Amino acid sequence: MINIQKPLAGALVALGVLASGVTFAQNALPDGRSAAPIENGVYPASYFPNTEILGDAEMRITALGTGMPNQTKAAVSISFYVELGNGDVFLFDVGTGATGNLFSLRPDFSKVDKVFFSHLHVDHVGDFMGLHVGGWLSGRYKPLRVFGPSGSEKELGTKAYVDGMSKAYAWDLATRTGALPDEGAKLEVTEFDYMLENEVVYQENGVTVRSWPAIHSLDGSVSYSLDWNGLKYVFGGDTYPNKWYVEYAKGADIASHEAFLPPKALAKYFGWDLSQATYVATRIHSEPAAFGKVMSAVEPRMALGYHSVLSPENYQAILEGVRSTYDGPLTLARDLQVINVTKDQIVVREASIDDYALPPAVSDEYINAPRSAEKETSAKVQAGKWDGYTPPPMPDK
Ligand SMILES: [Zn+2]
Ligand SMILES: [Zn+2]
Repeated sequence: MINIQKPLAGALVALGVLASGVTFAQNALPDGRSAAPIENGVYPASYFPNTEILGDAEMRITALGTGMPNQTKAAVSISFYVELGNGDVFLFDVGTGATGNLFSLRPDFSKVDKVFFSHLHVDHVGDFMGLHVGGWLSGRYKPLRVFGPSGSEKELGTKAYVDGMSKAYAWDLATRTGALPDEGAKLEVTEFDYMLENEVVYQENGVTVRSWPAIHSLDGSVSYSLDWNGLKYVFGGDTYPNKWYVEYAKGADIASHEAFLPPKALAKYFGWDLSQATYVATRIHSEPAAFGKVMSAVEPRMALGYHSVLSPENYQAILEGVRSTYDGPLTLARDLQVINVTKDQIVVREASIDDYALPPAVSDEYINAPRSAEKETSAKVQAGKWDGYTPPPMPDK
């Protein structure tokens, strides 16, 4: 039996009206706080989740994970969370460990129903299960929509990944169905050709997402752009520097792209020999100097490098590499870094989160969504109940 959290007073999604007459959507708000709009473009030094009203022409990008497959407390695996002023939210990748940071933002999970995979390495998709089940437990009462590339063979594509994963945790899904809304258990997969060149893979509600190929390990890594309201965010999948990114990322407000450790630093970090490190950093990935070259060609409003662990030594090595080839606006992303983007400015801050953040409240739609009958263990297992314990009576519903 799963306990479903009752909505907290004042914490539901609501529609408000500012003094200016502008309406806004308000996410799960912590008790005792009221969200405020940003006035005159002056942001607080830190971002406290759900306390700021996103402007209706504004985009907020939160780095949920920026690290490596060997995640650390400060750098879990890759995921970026994009919120738009129209109320839409998008996840790009959901690498291992990233859902902890997602939950710490206490989002309205009824909206967190779309994830785009760049490729199927575990450091990019390893928390898929946690997103599917955790989001369902926390407010999503509709299917989780998964968008991702095909592979060179059918069994190496996104659909095969999602099918295989959901089979692997069939027992989990079976136990929760009934206690949780039936539709939330479902998955809708859109697998597209990894060789699409800047073609549309998603277009709804004024938001267009395009995909193009990346060059990484095996066929089937891609990059994405998200265009909305004259703002463009580019999410680069793992790649060797590629011509498609240089062409299609142009015009980006925020262009994210891996800035892997340079060979010497990588060799030291992992204890590898220099030839292995050189191969990985410069043939499978993009070393910082290569990232810099790409950004010098793309010229985004802000270049966003990620996919490392920014220990002081690593940070220094990456920064020196990037700055040897690129002198434009730069952020080397850390977990829980928050970037607000408007036509006028780009503001980079850190989120201040509660290590014990409560689960977000759920909506009436979630509470009232159809559920099938709950299940129990069989009579032969029930027969093993120890008579030395009697549970308290069930309270009235
Ligand atoms: Zn990869
Ligand atoms: Zn990776």
